[in-house]
Amino acid sequence: MAQATQVTDHGGGVHSIRVPIPDNPLGHTLIHLLDTDAGPVLIDTGWDDPTSWAALTAGLTACGTTVTDLTGVLITHHHPDHHGLSAKVREASGAWIAMHEADAAVVRRTRENPPSRWYAYMGAKLAAAGAPEAHVAPLLAAAEAGRPRRLPGLDPALPDRTVTPGDLLDLPGRRLRAIWTPGHTPGHLCLHLEEAHPAGLPGNGRLFSGDHVLPGITPHIGLYEDPAVEEGSTDPLGDYLDSLERVGRLAPAEVLPAHQHPFTDAPARVRELLEHHESRLTDLRALLATPLTPWQLAERMEWNRPWADIPYGSRNIAVSEAEAHLRRLVKLGRAETVAGSDPVTYVATS
Ligand SMILES: [Zn+2]
Ligand SMILES: [Zn+2]
Repeated sequence: MAQATQVTDHGGGVHSIRVPIPDNPLGHTLIHLLDTDAGPVLIDTGWDDPTSWAALTAGLTACGTTVTDLTGVLITHHHPDHHGLSAKVREASGAWIAMHEADAAVVRRTRENPPSRWYAYMGAKLAAAGAPEAHVAPLLAAAEAGRPRRLPGLDPALPDRTVTPGDLLDLPGRRLRAIWTPGHTPGHLCLHLEEAHPAGLPGNGRLFSGDHVLPGITPHIGLYEDPAVEEGSTDPLGDYLDSLERVGRLAPAEVLPAHQHPFTDAPARVRELLEHHESRLTDLRALLATPLTPWQLAERMEWNRPWADIPYGSRNIAVSEAEAHLRRLVKLGRAETVAGSDPVTYVATS
């Protein structure tokens, strides 16, 4: 198989670099490089792994710069395939790191919370969602034993700046505006380059969309999993759908997403995503003809493989996605909790 191009020149002082995500079906993150009059700026950095670092630094060289020349890093969201290498980039270059305050708060919490607090939180959350005891027990045991977490991205870089939504970023010679698009994470940002498309494509400039809008996959929308936020107060799927409409209205000439490939006609993709979530909500409401816990709903939802084949960690993500949809159905008045049920069950409203 031919090696895919690692670096793409998108014109008008914008490049992308394919940075691999090891052992992940997504394959790679598209890291964008934006030239400014004050020096080059990165949008996202990639997974914290030696292979990914090598790809990033080689990519920068292929773009005619080096990691030491970078002056800033803009982070679309805190996930490790986007923010993983930020500390290394800052260490090598002295570049500032900027993100939305809501994701900066996630970063602070990730760094400050002992693993036992996270295990206990997840164990309690899953038990409340109706997970079987055999599923919850390992989490509670890990909390008890004070076991360290082995996931990557547990020591993410604290940002130097937070980005104010709606503001133009302070990038000499460029017009790049921060668009707050919560949903996939509470502080997800899209970045709108308000400059004519270099190839003259019709529309309003270009949009760096992070994970918010991707051409062929839908991003994970779960609960924000924040031990500090009152349970029930957030509606991530509602946030996501609102954010989608906001991005559709921008009508950019081209979207440069963080995975897969660039695409045009953002409003059409936004309509597809809105329809996908609407039909999913309708399907889930039909499943709720009989009362179900979030766990039972997740078991009955359509995934990319049968429930029995979904591994442990992915089941937790699936339950979180089921909960985000339940939260939305309740907010819309299309489902309600069954009074006195424990663990709580949900049923469609008549
Ligand atoms: Zn993400
Ligand atoms: Zn991603």
